[in-house]
Amino acid sequence: MITLLTKLPVEAAEFIKRGGIVAFPTETVYGLGANVFDEKAVAKIFEAKRRPADNPLIAHVGSLEQIAALTSRITPSAQKFIEAFFPAPLTLVLPKSEKVPLIATANLETIGVRMPKNELAREFLRCCETPIVAPSANLSGKPSPTDWQAVFEDLNGRIDCILQGEATEIGLESTVVDCTADVPLILRTGAISLEDLQRVVPETEVYQVKKDEIVRSPGLKHRHYSPKARVILINRKSQIANRKSQAFIGLHKPPEKFDLVKICASAAEYAHEVFAFFRTCDRAGITTIYCETVAESGIGRALMDRLRRASESQE
Ligand code: AMP
Ligand code: MG
Repeated sequence: MITLLTKLPVEAAEFIKRGGIVAFPTETVYGLGANVFDEKAVAKIFEAKRRPADNPLIAHVGSLEQIAALTSRITPSAQKFIEAFFPAPLTLVLPKSEKVPLIATANLETIGVRMPKNELAREFLRCCETPIVAPSANLSGKPSPTDWQAVFEDLNGRIDCILQGEATEIGLESTVVDCTADVPLILRTGAISLEDLQRVVPETEVYQVKKDEIVRSPGLKHRHYSPKARVILINRKSQIANRKSQAFIGLHKPPEKFDLVKICASAAEYAHEVFAFFRTCDRAGITTIYCETVAESGIGRALMDRLRRASESQE
């Protein structure tokens, strides 16, 4: 398959209309999209990404009107979040409509719904004239793509088209909130923070997997976000054995010498840079990446979640 690169959303949407799969920018990370109602096209996403079939996809809409076709019921908490935040880096899990094929939701009776804020994403979605299911546009297990070049690196020749936009604004995946029960539960942290959500629905909690419980959000159990290099979390007091091919990313200048160093001015900048830095390290043959931990509030909570997953998946 030849992968077309284009800057024109109309041209990219043509592939969707013909049952193809297209990578497109959003404010979080690049997504790999297909028409949610086209089972064959949705299957192509799982194949191209080598994504496990039990990992559900998020449906993206270009307008609020498109939400109705995806869900059988917009719950009261979801209604409040939609009014307060949409368009936003926020995914709401709702009961799915009968029209949505089970392949898109990995056999769940619920569907994640999001309206991206990125203008080019919404223009593309409007051109598609249908909601689009889109997981991150990387090979499964690799760091999420924050620019079109990262998508190209993973998926060139495996997908129909890449809509070339800017590097993504946030750099971490959307916050996922289960709105099907009385108490909204954050299944995945993101740029819309616990504090932001609690201002709208004060009961909102972060979901904690209890021992022996079936994981509520299947994607959470999969290996994620990992570069080839080993990832080690450190704080400012940590001792580091100085060897070759080591890299550092964090908020403060490290005392040791590293082959590659990225110092970020804020947790938001750190979140924005981290996946691209992982890929740069892999290209440079780095064997260990030291990541400085940050305070767990606001975007820092989501950043720490991704850093932990990147380090744990390699143990
Ligand atoms: P990705 O688009 O690659 O970031 O993956 C989407 C993630 O959203 C999945 O791995 C799940 O953790 C979560 N998700 C999507 N749909 C649902 C759903 N219906 N119920 C619970 N979690 C979901
Ligand atoms: Mg992903």
